[in-house]
Amino acid sequence: MFLSVFDMFKVGVGPSSSHTMGPMVAGARFLALLRASPFHVKGVRASLHGSLAFTGVGHATDRATILGLAGFEPATYDAAKAEAALQTIREGKTIHVPDLPPLAFDPQRDLLFDYGPALPGHANGMILKATDAQGDVILQETYYSIGGGFVLTAEEMAEAGSAKGKVRADVPYPFEKADEMLAMARASGLSIAAMKRANELRFRSASDLEAGMARIWAVMNDCISRGMAGTGILPGGLNVRRRAKGIHDALLAERGLNLTPPHVINDWMSLYAMAVNEENAAGGQVVTAPTNGAAGVVPAVIRYYLDHVPGASQTKVGEFLLTAAAVGGLVKHNASISGAECGCQAEVGAAAAMAAAGLAAVLGGSPEQVENAAEIALEHHLGMTCDPVRGLVQVPCIERNGLGAIKAVSAASLALRGDGIHLVSLDNCIETMRQTGADMHEKYKETSLGGLAVNVPNC
Ligand code: SF4
Repeated sequence: MFLSVFDMFKVGVGPSSSHTMGPMVAGARFLALLRASPFHVKGVRASLHGSLAFTGVGHATDRATILGLAGFEPATYDAAKAEAALQTIREGKTIHVPDLPPLAFDPQRDLLFDYGPALPGHANGMILKATDAQGDVILQETYYSIGGGFVLTAEEMAEAGSAKGKVRADVPYPFEKADEMLAMARASGLSIAAMKRANELRFRSASDLEAGMARIWAVMNDCISRGMAGTGILPGGLNVRRRAKGIHDALLAERGLNLTPPHVINDWMSLYAMAVNEENAAGGQVVTAPTNGAAGVVPAVIRYYLDHVPGASQTKVGEFLLTAAAVGGLVKHNASISGAECGCQAEVGAAAAMAAAGLAAVLGGSPEQVENAAEIALEHHLGMTCDPVRGLVQVPCIERNGLGAIKAVSAASLALRGDGIHLVSLDNCIETMRQTGADMHEKYKETSLGGLAVNVPNC
């Protein structure tokens, strides 16, 4: 299966790609199914299972599911319109969408959080049902939100599992492993970004590719700017204060004083990442990179490159994104980018690997050095659990993105000091992450039943 740069980087809405965007996408897909069905549908119902139930309230999964069933989609999400639609649905207990009759839906009665065992296909499962005039179920579909905003039906999930590794994408450089990627780079003499670009051009024109990547960076950068201006308390009841603006003001005030120690550059990286993740936690527009919970790492490292690295060029942002997407695709294809499946190593760890690869590439690294950078960044996130306090994508997520960005920059820098030869390959590291994720207790996989989530008082 080909994973485009626009699969790894999608414009979406916070706070979670798997728990907010995915359920919204599933709702939209179910509407399409209803429109194509011969049944006289009169109402809809939804049930959330596994991690979608356990951390669904903190991740606004209930809201996202209703909005999906009301026709909202992440890429075109409008917060004011969404709020008005929710209000109308709560009051009228009916959903109105084009090309379908009014659909009875009482959020209190028809949206169920099922805290029993997860559905068999994935930790993030949901079932959407359509009912007739008597309230009997006439159509239903099971959806899995598998991370990064990707959604599969139960059937697609089974097909993807059986096809994995068998059908190569029809692209010029169909690498599915890092060692294949390096072999193809050596044989072609191309960089990782150049091979990824050639693969993308199989599906879209060069101008569409450039325009799409420019938009992705513009949305990322706008998100940093909004985050650095935002103030107040984040929603959800944990009373987490937004800190990015205060850090930014302090850093600006210190500039030029010749008093700041060199490690303050880390605060700039943390600032950019935290700005994005505070926006994400507030339900704002972000780019999944590769998920919403880990959305701050890649933009922070790009902004670090542009604002702090001498000789940096805006023209290299595309090369950064393509290289990062190639690495993200390897992680997703061979392991997971879902916290509910493999813990936070799959989210912030994957994002750090992507960012490290992107930075190493734009700083002139060879394909081997780029692969080494990604491996170093991922290796030092191995075993990291997902334990968001109260199920909110705030603690530890916001700071964790800052630290992920710092590790990514260090990993790229270390890799560029070597010649690309190293002991643990990126493939070994990704496989280790997959096995560690499989062995990880469920309470550390986005259920908020362990770790920090049970050791921080709920104030
Ligand atoms: S702890 Fe990591 S994986 Fe879990 S919600 Fe936060 S960012 Fe996502």
